Amino acid sequence: MPNQHALLSPSSSERWLHCPKSVRLSEQFEDTTSVYASEGTEAHALCEHLVLTALGRHSTDPRSWFKQYSQEMQEAAEGYTAYIMETVAALRQDGVEPSVFVEQRLDMRSYVKDCFGTSDCVIIGGDTIVICDFKFGKLPVPATSPQLRIYALGACELFGNLYDFTRVRTVIYQPRLTTVDEAEITRDELYAWANDILAPTAKLAYDDEGEFACGDWCRFCRARNHCRALADHQMELAQYDFKLPPTLDDDEIAEILSRVDDLISWAGSIKEYALQAALKGVRFDGWKVVEGRANRRYVNEEAVAERVTASGKDPFEHKLLGITAMEKLLGKKSFAELLDGLVERPEGKPVLVPVSDKRPEMHTAKNDFADKTLDLTSNEGINQRVSKVYTDMDTLLGYRLEIVSTSDILSDSITSTALTVRVWHGSQNVTDTIDASRFRWLRTSSDAAADELWNAAHIGMKAITLTVRDVQYSATYNCELTDEQEE
Ligand code: SF4
Repeated sequence: MPNQHALLSPSSSERWLHCPKSVRLSEQFEDTTSVYASEGTEAHALCEHLVLTALGRHSTDPRSWFKQYSQEMQEAAEGYTAYIMETVAALRQDGVEPSVFVEQRLDMRSYVKDCFGTSDCVIIGGDTIVICDFKFGKLPVPATSPQLRIYALGACELFGNLYDFTRVRTVIYQPRLTTVDEAEITRDELYAWANDILAPTAKLAYDDEGEFACGDWCRFCRARNHCRALADHQMELAQYDFKLPPTLDDDEIAEILSRVDDLISWAGSIKEYALQAALKGVRFDGWKVVEGRANRRYVNEEAVAERVTASGKDPFEHKLLGITAMEKLLGKKSFAELLDGLVERPEGKPVLVPVSDKRPEMHTAKNDFADKTLDLTSNEGINQRVSKVYTDMDTLLGYRLEIVSTSDILSDSITSTALTVRVWHGSQNVTDTIDASRFRWLRTSSDAAADELWNAAHIGMKAITLTVRDVQYSATYNCELTDEQEE
C-alpha cells in the first residue's frame, strides 16, 4: 500500500499542476487531513487480496487487521475484482494472454522530482495498457485525472520497452458512485503531455516558481487557511457590497452563485482554523472563546433503562433501521433482492447547481417539455426514473411518452432490464397504433463514437435491453418519437 507521499505526489497533482506555488507554500503548514483514510486503506487491501486470489496467486486474507470492515466494503472489492477479471477475460477471448500487475510500484522521477506511486492494477494486453484505480470515496474522480495519467506514465516507463502497446486506458472504479469511468489516449499523446505540461510545471512547483491559481483543488491545500490568493479570490464577492438582490441583475446573481459554495466552505475552514488556534492561546482582536450550546444527555444509558423499566414503563423505541443502515446490515446485493419494490426515491427538493453537475435538469415550467432524458448512470431506482410521465407533452400534443422497465435495480443476479416505451393519448395506450419505425433510442455518454453505433443499432424498436454494464458507465438514455412526415 502507498505509505510515502512525495512533495509532488501523484495524488496532489491536480492541485500543483494548477497552482505550482502551492507546493512550497504548503510546506509551512501542518497536514491536518488524513491523506489515506483507514477505511480506504482497508478497502484497497481487500481489493488487492481478492484480485490476487482470483488470478490464482498467493495472498493472505487481510481482514483480521481491519477495523472498519463492512458488507459494503466486501461487495465493493468483489465488484472491483469482477471488473478486473472481466477485462482479463475479454482479452483472453480475443486470443491475448494479458500481463496483470497488482499494487505495482511506479517510478516517475524522470518527469517529476522524487515522484513515486503505486497503481492498484496494471493490465497489459494487445495494443493497450490499462491503469485501474479503485476509489472508495464519494468525491467523483474522472479517469482523465492527472493522478492516473502520472501512474500511466510510470507504467509506460516501466513496461514500455518490454511490451508493444500504443494505447493507454485509465480507469476509475468508484463503487460508492456506481461508476466506472474510462478514458483513453495514445502513448504518444501521454508522452507529449508529460513533456509539454507535466515536467515543466513540476519543475516550476519544485523551484517555487509559477503562479497561484484558485479553484476546486484549493480545498485539499494545506495553505488554504492562510493563502492570500485564495482570500483575495473569495473576497472579490465583496465588490457587490452585499447589495439587496433586487439591485443585482441576473448576470451578477449567476456570478455570485458560481462562487458562493466555495466562499462558504473557505469561510468555514477559516473559522475552524481560528477556533483551534484560539484554543491553543492565539488571541484574535475582538474575538473570544465561549462554551457553546449543548443538549442534555444520559450519563449512563443502562442505568436509565433499568430505572424506567422498574417503574413499569418501556424506555425503548422500536424503529426500523434507516435505508443506509439497512443496506449496510444486509449488503447491497441482498438489500436489492430482499427489498425489491419496497424502496423508492421520492422526487428531491429543487436545488440550484452549476450546469456542469451530472444530474439531469429538473422539470420546471419552462423545461418540462424539452427534458425527456432518462439518467441511468446510477444503478438505483431505475424503475422510478424510467416511469416518469411527461405530462406537458400530453398537454401540448395530446400524446405523452412513458418508459417502463422490468426491473427496478440491477445486481449480480438481475443482470438486465428491458425498457419499453408506451405512448398515451389521454388515458388510452396507443402504442400499438404507432409503427415501430418511428421510435428512436438515444444514448449519450463520454464516448461519442460508441454512442453513434449504439444509437444506429436502436432505431425502430419499442423495447430495448440494458445490462449492468450499460448502467455502470456515465450514460443517459432517451427515446424519441419521430414525426410521421419523416418516414
Ligand atoms: S489555497 Fe489554492 S491558490 Fe492558495 S496555494 Fe493553495 S491551491 Fe494555490
